[in-house]
Amino acid sequence: MHDCPHASSSRFVDACLRVCVGLWLLIPGLLPSYVCAATGDGRVDAAWLVDSTGETTLESLRRGYAGAEWRPLPRDHIVNLGFTESVVWLRLRIEPAEANRVLEIGYPLMDQLTIHWFAGDRYLQTYETGDERPFSNRPIYHRNFVFSVPRADTAVTAYIRAQSDGALQLPFAVRTSERFLAHDQATYGIQLLFAGFMIALALYNTLVLMAVRHIAYFWYVMGVVCILLTQMSLHGLTFQWLWPGWPQINNLAVISLTSLSVMFTALFSDSFLNARRFSRGASTYIRLVALMGFLSLVGGFFLPYAFSIKAVAVLVFVLTPPMLFAGFWLWRRGQVLAKFYLLAWTPLLVGHFLFALSKLAVLPRTVWLEYAPEFGAALEGLLLSFALAYRINLERQRRIRAQNDALNIQQAANQSLEKRVADRTAALKIANDRLRTLSVTDGLTGVSNRRRFDEALLAEWRRSWRQSQPLALIILDIDYFKRVNDTYGHPCGDTCLIQVAEICRTRFRREGDVVARYGGEEFAMLLPNTDEAGAVQVAEDLRLAIGEHRVNCEGVAGPVSLTASLGVAIRFPDGDSDPDLLVRIADEALYEAKAAGRNRTMVYRLEGVHPV
Ligand code: GH3
Ligand code: MG
Ligand code: MG
Repeated sequence: MHDCPHASSSRFVDACLRVCVGLWLLIPGLLPSYVCAATGDGRVDAAWLVDSTGETTLESLRRGYAGAEWRPLPRDHIVNLGFTESVVWLRLRIEPAEANRVLEIGYPLMDQLTIHWFAGDRYLQTYETGDERPFSNRPIYHRNFVFSVPRADTAVTAYIRAQSDGALQLPFAVRTSERFLAHDQATYGIQLLFAGFMIALALYNTLVLMAVRHIAYFWYVMGVVCILLTQMSLHGLTFQWLWPGWPQINNLAVISLTSLSVMFTALFSDSFLNARRFSRGASTYIRLVALMGFLSLVGGFFLPYAFSIKAVAVLVFVLTPPMLFAGFWLWRRGQVLAKFYLLAWTPLLVGHFLFALSKLAVLPRTVWLEYAPEFGAALEGLLLSFALAYRINLERQRRIRAQNDALNIQQAANQSLEKRVADRTAALKIANDRLRTLSVTDGLTGVSNRRRFDEALLAEWRRSWRQSQPLALIILDIDYFKRVNDTYGHPCGDTCLIQVAEICRTRFRREGDVVARYGGEEFAMLLPNTDEAGAVQVAEDLRLAIGEHRVNCEGVAGPVSLTASLGVAIRFPDGDSDPDLLVRIADEALYEAKAAGRNRTMVYRLEGVHPV
C-alpha cells in the first residue's frame, strides 16, 4: 500500500500535522485578552425576549406589556437562536461614564437591525440598519454594526430589534472608543492576514497551474478564492469593499460563494486524488457533492433565502464531511496523496463544524469559534498547496523510475548484445583457427601438410640466410611400402603412416622444427640452425627407431615392421641459390639411399652423396 520512498515523507507529514494542529489550538490562546472579551468592558445590564409574532412594538414593550417576559442575559452570554423566523429584542441598560463609548453588534449578516436610544425615560434617537440596506446607511462606517453610546447623566437604554432570514445571533459589546479601536485592529488584522495568506496561496498556485497545466490546480485556486470570499462575506468585508451600494447581492453572495466553495472543493478532490481510478464509489460521492454545490448555487438565485441558507448549511455540514471518509477510503485503496488530503481537510472541517455548532446555538459563540474556519481554511490551503507540490514530486519520482527502468532494460539489452557478439567472435576465432590448422595439417597423420612445409621452408631459408645459420632438411621414405599395402591392406598402411608420423613428431621438438608429410609415404623434416653432424645423428636415430618399431594392425596377425631410407642435406642459404635446391639435393641423397639398398641414411655434400 505505501512503499518505502514514501515512508520518510509520511513521517514528515505526520510531524507537520501535529505541529499545525498544535499551533491552530494555540492561536486563540495567543490572542490578546481584549479580543476574547466578547461582551466588552462596560457595566451593562442586558435582557432579551423573543417575539414570535414580530408584531410587538417598542411602545408596548416600554409600557411593560409583552407576549413574553424579558429574560436577563448573564455576562458573556450571547443571544444565539440559530435559524429562526422570530424577532428578537435586546435591551441594554448602560451605566453613565466619563469616556466616549461605542456599542458593537458583531454579526454583519443581520438582515434588519433597529436600535432605539433612551436616557432614562427620555427618547433620544432611532437607527434603522441591517445588511438589507446600503452600507452608507450605517451610522458608523464599519463592517459590523457600530453605534455611539449617547452621553447622558443617567443610564442610557438601547432597545434593539433584530430579525434575520439566516442564523440569528446578537453578539454585542460596549467599549470605550480606545478599547474598541484596539479590539478592532486585532480582529481586522486577523482577517487581513487570512486574506493575504489565501491570496498568496491562490496566486502561487495560479503560476504553478500555468506551468503544470493540471486541472487540479485550477479547482484548487478557485476553491481557495471562494473560501476566502465566503469568509470575508461572513465578516461583512465583501459588503464593505466590493458592493457597499448593493445590499441585494449580499444575501445571495453568502449562498453562492459557499456553494461554489463546496463545488470547487469537491471537483478538486476528485481530480487531485484521481478518485475514479481508486474507487468508483468514493468518486461518485465526491462528484455528487459537486453537483449538489452547483444545484445550491443555482437554487440560491430562485428559491427564498430562508430556504436556501438552510440548504447550504446542510450541504456544508452534512454532505461535505463524508468526503473526508471518501479520502480515507481512497487512502486505504492505495492513493498515497489521500493522506495529505485527510491531513489538509481535517482542520478545515473541524473549524467549520465548530463554527456551525456555534451558529446553530449548540455551542456558545466565542471569538475562537468565530475565527475557527479561517484558521482551518488557512491551514488547509497551505497543506493542500504542499500536497500539490508533493504530487509534482511524486510524478517526478515516477518519471525517474520509468526512465531508470528503460535505461536498465537498454543496458541489459546492450550487455546481452555485447556478450552475444563476444561469444560469436570467440566461436568464429575458434572456427577460423581450426580451419587454419586444417588447411595446414595433413588429414591422416596430423603433421604439417605440403603447403605448410613449403611456407616454412621459404621462411626458414630467409631467416637462416639473414642469421647466416645452416638449414638442414631430412626427407624420409618408407621402404617397400607398396608391399605393406598389398600384404596387409590399405587401412593397415594408413596405421603405419600415422605411427611413423608420430615417431617423427616426438623426435623433432626444437623451436622451428617442422615435420611434414611431403607425399604418399614420404616425410620431410626441416631443422633450422642444425649442422651436418646434428642432422645426420637425428636422421640415424629416427631410422633406427622406425626399424625397431612394430605396428599392430587390426585384423592382421602379428606385428608389422618397417624400414625407411633417409636423405639429408644441409645448406647455408645465400643469394645464389633458392630453397628448392635444398629439396632437390635431399631428394638426391634419398634416391642414393634407395639405390644403395634402402634402410639407410645418405648425406649430400658438394662433392657428392655420402653414406653416414
Ligand atoms: P620404395 O622402397 O622404392 O620406396 O618402394 P615403395 O613401394 O615404398 O615405393 P612406391 O613409390 O612404389 O609406392 C608407394 C606406395 O605408397 C604407393 C601407395 O599405394 C602407397 N601410399 C601412398 N600414399 C598412401 C596412403 O596415404 N595410404 C596408404 N595406405 N598407402 C599409401
Ligand atoms: Mg615413395
Ligand atoms: Mg617407399
